[in-house]
Amino acid sequence: MTTHLGIPGSPAAEPVPPAGFPTTARLIDGGDMDCGSGLLLLITRAMRRLEDGDLLAIRSAEPSVQVDLPAWAEMVGNDIAGVGSETDQGPWWFAVRKGSASTTVFSTGERIPVGHRIWVYTNFDCNLACLYCCAESSPKAAARRVDIPTARKVFAEFGELGGREVILTGGEPFMHPDLGELVDAAAGFERTLLTNAMIFGRGNRRKMLEDMDRSVKLQVSLDSAGPELHDSQRGAGSWARALDGIGLAKSLGFQVRVAATMLDEDPEGVTALHARLDEIGIAQDDRVIRPVAAEGYAETGIHVSLDDLEPEPTLTADGAWWHPVAVTNPNMRIADSPLPLSEVFGVVNDILDVQGVAAASGREVFRCA
Ligand code: SF4
Repeated sequence: MTTHLGIPGSPAAEPVPPAGFPTTARLIDGGDMDCGSGLLLLITRAMRRLEDGDLLAIRSAEPSVQVDLPAWAEMVGNDIAGVGSETDQGPWWFAVRKGSASTTVFSTGERIPVGHRIWVYTNFDCNLACLYCCAESSPKAAARRVDIPTARKVFAEFGELGGREVILTGGEPFMHPDLGELVDAAAGFERTLLTNAMIFGRGNRRKMLEDMDRSVKLQVSLDSAGPELHDSQRGAGSWARALDGIGLAKSLGFQVRVAATMLDEDPEGVTALHARLDEIGIAQDDRVIRPVAAEGYAETGIHVSLDDLEPEPTLTADGAWWHPVAVTNPNMRIADSPLPLSEVFGVVNDILDVQGVAAASGREVFRCA
C-alpha cells in the first residue's frame, strides 16, 4: 500500500508515480528539499518504520537529489530499486529498498585504553611464509629477536605505568631460543602467546612448552574448518599440524584461543569453522575472525592508517609501532626503540589528541546552525 507521509506545504493530493515505477510501501514527497536540508531526516524516519526489503518511494523537485540520493543509499546499505521522473525537469522519483543492517563475520572489539596492553614481536623469523603475512616473516627473514634484558626493562616499566596485558607474537615465537625466559619476564601480566602451533611438538621447544606457566593463553592460527583454505594461505600440511598442536596444547592444560584470518567475508566458511572449533573444544570467547590487512606480504586487504586504526602499541627489537598489523609500514612507526615505554605511549596519546582536535574542528566546519 502506498502511504503519503507528506510535509507541511506539500500538495494535499497524492502525486502519481511515473509509468513503470515500482509499487512501494510508503511515499515521501520532499517538495523542493535537498538531501542537506531535511530530506534525509524525513527519509530516515520513514525507513525506521519499514521492514528490511520494503520499498520507500521518494519524490523530489530538487535536481541535486539525482546525485545525492543514490550516493546516500549506497553509503547506508540501501538499494535504489527504481527511478523515474514526471517530466525532463522533474520532479524525480526514487524507489529505495531498505537494506538489512550490515553484518560482518569479522570479530569486533572495544578500544583498549593506551597503556593497558602492549604487543611484543619476540622475533620475525618463522617456519612458514604465509601469503598475507603482515610482518613479512618467513624462514629467511632476519630474526630481529628481542633480548631478555630489554624485555625485562620493558615489562618493568610497563608495570610502573599500570600496564595489564602483554601479547607476544612474531614471526613464530617458538623460534626464539629464549622464549621461555621472555614469557617468564612478563609474569604478573595477563599473557597471550601467538603461535602457529606447528613446531613445539618435539625436542627443546616441547620442553619449553611443557615448562610454561599454564596461565599463559596460546592463540593459534587456524583459518578454516578443513585444510583447503588454510593450506592454500599458509602452506601444504600446515592445517593438520596446527590441529595437532592445538590438541597437544590442550592436553597439557593450556587455554587455547583460535584466530582465523580471511580475505573475504565468508559466512559459510565461518559457520563451518565454528562447528569445527565446537568439536575440538575451543570456547566461543576464544575465537577471533579477522580480515587480512593490506600490509607486509598481503597484496589486498583492509587498508590501515593512523586515522582509521585504534592504537595498540607494539614493540619490536628495534622500534615501536602503532599496531601489530603495521610493523612493516614506515608510516606507522612511532619510535626507533621499544624504550622508554613512556615515550611510546606519549607519542600515541599525542597523536590521539591531534586526531581529536582535527575531528572536532571538522565538525565545526560543517555546522548548519
Ligand atoms: S602469518 Fe604468522 S605463521 Fe604466517 S608467516 Fe607470518 S608470522 Fe609466520
